[in-house]
Amino acid sequence: MSSVPVAVVTGSNKGIGFAIVRALCKQFPGDVYLTARDPGRGQEAVAKLQEEGLHPLFHQLDIDDLQSIRALRDFLKEKYGGLNVLVNNAGIAFKVHDTTPFAVQAEVTLKTNFFGTRNVCMELLPLVKPYGKVVNVSSMVSSSALGRCSQELQQKFRSDTITEDELVKLMTKFVEDTKKSVHEKEGWPNTAYGVSKIGVTVLSRIQARMLNEKRKGDHILLNACCPGWVRTDMAGPKATKSPDEGAETPVYLALLPSDANGPHGQFLSDKTVRSW
Ligand code: NAP
Repeated sequence: MSSVPVAVVTGSNKGIGFAIVRALCKQFPGDVYLTARDPGRGQEAVAKLQEEGLHPLFHQLDIDDLQSIRALRDFLKEKYGGLNVLVNNAGIAFKVHDTTPFAVQAEVTLKTNFFGTRNVCMELLPLVKPYGKVVNVSSMVSSSALGRCSQELQQKFRSDTITEDELVKLMTKFVEDTKKSVHEKEGWPNTAYGVSKIGVTVLSRIQARMLNEKRKGDHILLNACCPGWVRTDMAGPKATKSPDEGAETPVYLALLPSDANGPHGQFLSDKTVRSW
């Protein structure tokens, strides 16, 4: 088994994830895994970074596929006995003018952004080694969407005692409510992406609390963040930040020094803790 530290970035064949891998290859003292759901796109991305003189490794990972997540989990367990850094970056967003019915957009978006990310956490968090770092890439849109939820939902999502089960039930209810066209009446904002990212931010707060309760002595730091508005296939060419600039806050959180006590369980943008 290798004692080399290991970092894993989900959805890193392009965009912000790719830039996070690039930065980690330069700054993380260990093996860095670029992962992609499509091995061809993944290997192409690895080759691009190799041309820059960097040496990422590759592993397939589709966060929508539990078997794929478990294969990565078993690989990490066997080869490294766990992992040191996990960046949950993979995500999707329908374009504003996409005509796919809203209920379908809700189901598909939540499936990857919330349920897929949660499945990765369920399988990989137990493997994170002491002093490890976990970064969940959320979005400022989670904050604006929270502000457009009913008071009752806002209270639930801001609660310091909400459980993961309760959060899962709420995310499931959103999808069900969109199918019945009652989501607005039920207090939800009209944004599937926004709700999915509320899920990611609240999940991060819950997971950090659980780490405090169950693994306090392990000094693991887990946070959610927004990369900013970044020029990628998701956000388009008008966005203000380059992918490398978008990677800065996630990489900052992934590389917090081992004597840092925080941030932990926070939502950050531009390396600054934001109120939730
Ligand atoms: P992007 O260029 O569209 O890249 C998304 C990445 O996620 C791609 O590598 C994609 O792989 C991967 N992915 C999607 N579904 C996946 C799945 N089921 N399993 C594994 N990988 C999957 O988007 P981006 O702008 O870099 O976004 C990265 C993260 O930042 C997302 O979580 C996004 O919500 C968040 N974010 C972005 C912005 C922004 O302005 N760009 C702002 C706030 C937050 P494929 O190539 O196979 O599709």
